[in-house]
Formats: sequence, C-alpha cells, structure tokens
Amino acid sequence: LNDRFVAEQNLDAITKDGEHISLLLNAGLELNTEHDNKPFCDGVGLYRTEAWFMQKGQFPSQSEQESWYREVLTSYHPNPVVMRTLDIGGDKVLDYFNITEENPFLGWRGIRVTLDHPELFLDQLKAMLKANIGLGNLKIMLPMISGSEEVDESLKLLEQAYFELSEQYPEQAIERPEIGVMLEVPSSVFMLEEWSQKVDFCSVGSNDLTQYMLAVDRSNARVAELFNPYHPSVLRVLLKIAQECQQHELPFSLCGELGGDPEGALLLIAMGYRSLSMNYASISKIKFVLRRLNVSDMEKLLAECLLQPTAKHVLRLTRNFMIEHQ
Ligand code: PEP
Ligand code: MG
Repeated sequence: LNDRFVAEQNLDAITKDGEHISLLLNAGLELNTEHDNKPFCDGVGLYRTEAWFMQKGQFPSQSEQESWYREVLTSYHPNPVVMRTLDIGGDKVLDYFNITEENPFLGWRGIRVTLDHPELFLDQLKAMLKANIGLGNLKIMLPMISGSEEVDESLKLLEQAYFELSEQYPEQAIERPEIGVMLEVPSSVFMLEEWSQKVDFCSVGSNDLTQYMLAVDRSNARVAELFNPYHPSVLRVLLKIAQECQQHELPFSLCGELGGDPEGALLLIAMGYRSLSMNYASISKIKFVLRRLNVSDMEKLLAECLLQPTAKHVLRLTRNFMIEHQ
C-alpha cells in the first residue's frame, strides 16, 4: 500500500468531487531532514521552533536563529512556512531553563513563558523578520493562547520588533508577516469573534485541545485510552471552530495529529476544513485517501458520527466507511 501512496504523492490533493485540500507539513522536530521532500505539499503549516532550542546548551543568539529560519524559509519558498514561536513547558523542556511544577500542562507553558520573558520573544521575532527579508513566505503562530491579553501583548511585541528593526536597518524592506493563533486551549474556542478582528489566521492544535477538553494528560500511559480526539465532545468543538471561523471570515487550519489520520481527515473535511497540516509520513496517505472520496459522502458520514454516543462508535462508523469506499 505504501508504494501506491508514493506513486501518487505528486498528484494534486483533490477529492473525487473536485474539492482542493491544502496539505501542509508539520516540521521542526526532525530538524533538517524534511527539506528534501517538499514538492508534494503546499508548505509548512507548523514549524516547531523549540526543537532547535532543545538541541542547544543555552538560548541561541538572534543571529544564529536568523540563519536557521532563513534556511527553512528559503527551502520552502515560495510556499508559506508557519513558524510557531517558542513553545516550551509541559512536555517540552530545555535543559538550561528549569521549569519544575506539579502541574506542568496547566502551568508555565508556551506563550506564558515568552510573554514573561519579552527579551527572548523579541529576539525570536526579530530573527524571524530578518530571515524573511526578500522572501516574504513567513507566517508567525502563537502557541497556548488562552485570552485576549495574550493576543494583544504578542501583537504589541511584534510591532515593537518590526519598528526596532526598521529603524536599525532603514535600507531593508522589513515586512509585517501574517500572524495567527493556535486553538488548543478550550477558552480560545469561545473567543473567535473577537480574535478574528485581531489576527490573520488560526490553527487548531488538536493534541492539546483534546488533552484539555477531556482533562487527560497527553503523555500519561495510564490514561492513554481516554485520550481520544474522536470523543463526540471534541468533534463538536472542532465543528464549532470551523463554523465560527467561516462566519467571522477567519482563515483556519488544523495541525494536530488528528489531521494525519485518514478517519480524522475525512471528518475534518466534512466539517469544512480545507487546510490540514501533518507529519511527513501522513501526507501521501491522506492524499491517496481523499482522492478517492466525495465530500458529499464525508458529510453524510459526519452527520451520523455526530449522533454517536462515544468515540468507539464514531471510529467504528468511520472505519466501515473507509472500507466501503476503497
Ligand atoms: C497540538 O497541540 O496539537 C500541536 C500541534 O502542538 P504540539 O503537539 O507541538 O503541542
Ligand atoms: Mg500544542
């Protein structure tokens, strides 16, 4: 089957009834290895910048970051690269920056850390803006946003980075990149109307969103069976996000693992998602599957799934659908 996926990997990601789906790459954790494999995706939907920070013995300098970011932006140019600002805390630790907490997933994580250390945040933002000079394919995404203060404060720091660089390099055309938020904390789902006025796009982090919706630690083996993005409540939230984003004209995407599961991708497309970002290994598989299916059939499947009482029931229906339609 793998050979069949690969044979079609450079074809368009288009459903049988002609709907184009943007398939993007989640990158960063394997550092440079993905760069050779770009032709069959539409760009990078999530670049996890913390991977670089995790490999170092100390915080990297602005110029070191700039050269990393430039390499990635150049490598995918002219396709977009969504770079996420540093997302540490929780399951992602830096040896040289100790965060010891009883409840790390509910603690000092993601944007909370960088807003408390604006010098780190500004360094990273400036490195990204400089790396983007003459390229223009950078988009910036903020992790773990839970309230409007965090959006406002981040936008303010981005403006500051932009102005300081423009003053420092008056002869260079520094661009203001698009900026987006991750939707991975349940509170964010209820703020989309306001945030659609402030940011350019959003992307669902279904890994953390599932963890916080179900109160199940995503890395705790003992409760791993409870961690299930097909839980009817998670599906309803994903649908609500799609509907609200459409209503408020906020471009939306999803970059959690769910989009790289064939069953998940079908349900998301039925909900209205037209952009999914996933691991390298999933792209050819998802493309293969969606080229053989009609959106109208996926919509019928979704309608049935939304009536199911448990994740198990949802998965049974979805798997049967896949078998029937292969
Ligand atoms: C997510 O939470 O779904 C996500 C994409 O980010 P990460 O897995 O890096 O937390
Ligand atoms: Mg996350």
